Amino acid sequence: MDVKKPTKRMSKRLYAGIPCKKADCNKIFQPTDSRQKYCCPQHRVDHNNDKRKANDTDAVALLKTLKHNDAVLAKVFRSEIYSMTKGVSLDLLQYERFEFDYFVKRQKNTQTGKTVLWMFKYGIEPTEFNNNIFLIRQSA
Ligand SMILES: [Zn+2]
Repeated sequence: MDVKKPTKRMSKRLYAGIPCKKADCNKIFQPTDSRQKYCCPQHRVDHNNDKRKANDTDAVALLKTLKHNDAVLAKVFRSEIYSMTKGVSLDLLQYERFEFDYFVKRQKNTQTGKTVLWMFKYGIEPTEFNNNIFLIRQSA
C-alpha cells in the first residue's frame, strides 16, 4: 500500500496561461501575479519603449501637419493673387491639402468676431459673407 507523500502546498495561486502583451512575442506564459502581463521583464521594458516610440511618431506626424498648414498659409499669403483679392478659397486650401482639424490655437478676432485658427506664424479666418472664402492672418 502506497503512502501518500504530503504534497507541498503551492505558495502562489496558479493563473491560466495568457499571451505576452509585447506585440511581436505572444508567448503563452503562466503569470504568478494577476498584474503580470509580460512573459519576462525584458519584454515589459521593450513594450514600454515601443509604446513611447509610437507616441513620438504621432507627435512627429502632428508637427508635420501643423508645419504643412503654416507653409500653405505662408505661400498663399505671399502670393500675388492673395495680395489682390485678400481672400483664399476653400477649393484652393483643399487642393493644397490644408487640414482644418489641425491648429495650434483658436482665438477670437475681437474686430471681426470670427474665430482664427492659428498655426505657428499664420492663422486662418472665415470671411463675414462667404464661408468658403478665408482671410489669412499673420502673427505679430
Ligand atoms: Zn514576451
